[in-house]
Amino acid sequence: MTSIVWFRRDLRLADQAALVAAAARGAVIPVYILDDETPKHRKLGGASRWWLHHSLASLDQSLRERGARLILRRGRCDDQLAVIAQETGATEVHALRHYEPWWRNAERAVAQRLTLHCHDGNYLAPPGSIVSGQGTPYKIYTPFWRALSATLPPPEPLAAPKRLDPPAQWPASDALDDWGLLPTKPDWAKGFAAEWTPGEAGAAERLAAFADRAARYEEQRNLPSIEGTSRLSPHLHFGEISPAAAWHAVAGKGGSVGTFLGELGWRDYAQNIVLQFPDYAARNAKPQFDKLAWRDDARVADDLKAWQQGRTGYPIVDAGMRQLWASGWMHNRVRMIAAYFLIKHLLIDWRVGERWFWDTLVDADYASNAVNWQWVAGSGVDANIFSRIMAPLSQSEKFDAAGYIRHWVPELRGLSDAAIHDPEEAGARPRDYPRKIIGHREARERALAAAAAMRG
Ligand SMILES: Cc1cc2nc3c(=O)[nH]c(=O)nc-3n(C[C@H](O)[C@H](O)[C@H](O)COP(=O)(O)OP(=O)(O)OC[C@H]3O[C@@H](n4cnc5c(N)ncnc54)[C@H](O)[C@@H]3O)c2cc1C
Repeated sequence: MTSIVWFRRDLRLADQAALVAAAARGAVIPVYILDDETPKHRKLGGASRWWLHHSLASLDQSLRERGARLILRRGRCDDQLAVIAQETGATEVHALRHYEPWWRNAERAVAQRLTLHCHDGNYLAPPGSIVSGQGTPYKIYTPFWRALSATLPPPEPLAAPKRLDPPAQWPASDALDDWGLLPTKPDWAKGFAAEWTPGEAGAAERLAAFADRAARYEEQRNLPSIEGTSRLSPHLHFGEISPAAAWHAVAGKGGSVGTFLGELGWRDYAQNIVLQFPDYAARNAKPQFDKLAWRDDARVADDLKAWQQGRTGYPIVDAGMRQLWASGWMHNRVRMIAAYFLIKHLLIDWRVGERWFWDTLVDADYASNAVNWQWVAGSGVDANIFSRIMAPLSQSEKFDAAGYIRHWVPELRGLSDAAIHDPEEAGARPRDYPRKIIGHREARERALAAAAAMRG
């Protein structure tokens, strides 16, 4: 028997239940389809496309070492899989299950035309399986995590197959370079390669490096000046490593590793929310927020640009936004500060920020991005109240961000620890660094007034 393995955000050979199931039945045709056409499909952002290019190259290399190769096609997944099945006589398709609304649409379309077997393995527990005693899905993280924890540990990871049986004849494949996934003019991803190694081997290296410091996670995770978190997010997003593999590698490390495991739980939680609310990136979960008067004045476009380019005059925000642009990633504490700043200080709709992150993050994830943006905005099912306004300047001091700011905002490199968090206030603002685009108190009052008007 010949089976197709339909890869999507699961670009790995280890702990890949679809590959293991297909290989056990006979010959395997690994396929990746660049699908910008399935209904409701959200096109990958620019940074994700850079990652995808390198991750596919790495997967193809690993498959070739096992006697196989990756077949690339472009178009609607159901059309392309049907064509490959016809060309090769493959009778089944195996895939890991995905939960973005467009992937669910694509799975339904494929299942109407071919025998599709969907397997679990991209989450600690299959999304939708964690429900309350009454059988309802959770909307709040804490009870969700309690219920999920009761099912853990996740199953032991499956080993990667050592050899894969080839089909009688390999179908034709697109050339990866022809897909134009990498930026050219200008090449804004120049700095990405120094920071990241997309692919399964790169993921394993990151995990091994993190395992040594996992016991100190809680103490270090909020300090952007050091590498205290795992930086596994793009690898987890593209499925180059399974959460079960990450879990089993660190769970026994002691110390505060439990906090890290809880973050993997947030990833599961976000996906469970999107399963309940498929348009979570487009719609306020609390309808009251539809009445919030986001800014619509003449300066809003300039303010948005200043935020995107890291020129707001708030060093911690600017450092984060420049890290994002230069490396495709931002430290979680700084993501929160930058998101609060856009929503509360600038009073710009959270969906504008969500879109910018979608395009610029290498870990851009439909569920995690939308759930975190709605959490910060206060519009989500489990969220902060809108009137909680994070003060970026005191956050910067509290989490000792001086080294981080010096790294990402070179204009401020010469400033002391005392002056660097708020150079304007300290009378130390260099000429080439902008003034604050809005004062903290003024911004706070404007946001609170908007919240009061929304409540009516
Ligand atoms: C406004 C905003 C937008 C975000 N957008 C994304 C996104 O598009 N993709 C994304 O993966 N994460 C997103 N996050 C969550 C978080 O910032 C990143 O997962 C984290 O910074 C990744 O770094 P790490 O791998 O070192 O994380 P670690 O601290 O080492 O955590 C381990 C893993 O747990 C998961 N995780 C951690 N925190 C969260 C969280 N709050 N929500 C969901 N999963 C989490 C990630 O998969 C992460 O790799 C966002 C957070 C905010 C505040």
